[in-house]
Amino acid sequence: MKEQNYLDVLVGVIGHPVAENPGKVIQEAAFGEMGLKRWQYLTIDVKPEDLEDAVRGLKAFGMRGINCTIPHKIKVIPFLDELSEAARLIGAVNTIVNTEGHLYGDNTDGKGLMESLRENGVDPKGKKAVVLGAGGAARAICVELCLAGTEDITVVNRPQDRALGDSLTELLSRVCRNPRYVSWEGTYRIPGDTDILINATPIGLYPDVDAIPNVDVGTILPSMFVQDVIPNPAVTPFLRAAQARGAKWNTGTGMLINQAAINIQMWTGRKPDKALMRRALDEALS
Ligand code: NDP
Repeated sequence: MKEQNYLDVLVGVIGHPVAENPGKVIQEAAFGEMGLKRWQYLTIDVKPEDLEDAVRGLKAFGMRGINCTIPHKIKVIPFLDELSEAARLIGAVNTIVNTEGHLYGDNTDGKGLMESLRENGVDPKGKKAVVLGAGGAARAICVELCLAGTEDITVVNRPQDRALGDSLTELLSRVCRNPRYVSWEGTYRIPGDTDILINATPIGLYPDVDAIPNVDVGTILPSMFVQDVIPNPAVTPFLRAAQARGAKWNTGTGMLINQAAINIQMWTGRKPDKALMRRALDEALS
């Protein structure tokens, strides 16, 4: 007789808005291939004022874990029991693991990007990096770059209020050897000795697909590796400019797939098939 077990095993993502988040497509493709038939990835729109109830709900439903996206990555922290070192340094969580009511928060955005860089033969150790933007993704990337031994890191961001600028500088000075903060006013010229240039802003993200960060693309050199975080569309005008300048480049798709793969491993204890996840994403976005 067949096993009679119809209990769903739940994970998912909470955000607001969240309808265009492709996590479900990637994760459920992996669960299918892994034979995890009862696993479901729910995409749940949670308003900021409902966040605490949502966390209670995830415990009540016995969900194995959840991803957090904008605007919950920071505000969810007070409701968690334990944080990873990266999440503590970054001050933001994108992955929660629920072990019988004990909620552990980690941040896999930066780790996903590091893995994608390594897949492209780029080791950040001893390199000079320029990061455009200073939001959640940029902070995660900067912390992981520094933990991976990046020699020199420059964060370029629009002028902000002093408190925000100070908190970023303080964060970087705790983990980086040579952190620098540049106020992004006018067109930014990339220093010629930059090894890795990363766009960590939403500039170029659907639907604003023709937008490009305000940098002098003539200062991009063939010696640079240019990385974008934008997953949709994969090839942005920024990456096209890098290609035209003869630089090596990489889309934000690898970061997305790798951070989802890390999440799955944290929840299931097993490594998913990343090639299959990438095919599922390409199909969904085509
Ligand atoms: P945040 O809103 O936290 O930060 C955005 C940053 O970009 C801020 O520093 C902001 O500057 C800057 N910025 C926005 N617009 C402009 C502009 N026109 N000119 C200059 N700077 C600008 O967002 P996140 O960091 O969470 O996300 C950023 C991007 O990363 C998103 O597009 C998201 O899709 C992508 N992402 C991709 C992932 C992947 O796996 N591929 C994972 C996570 C995020 P200011 O402080 O002045 O507002």
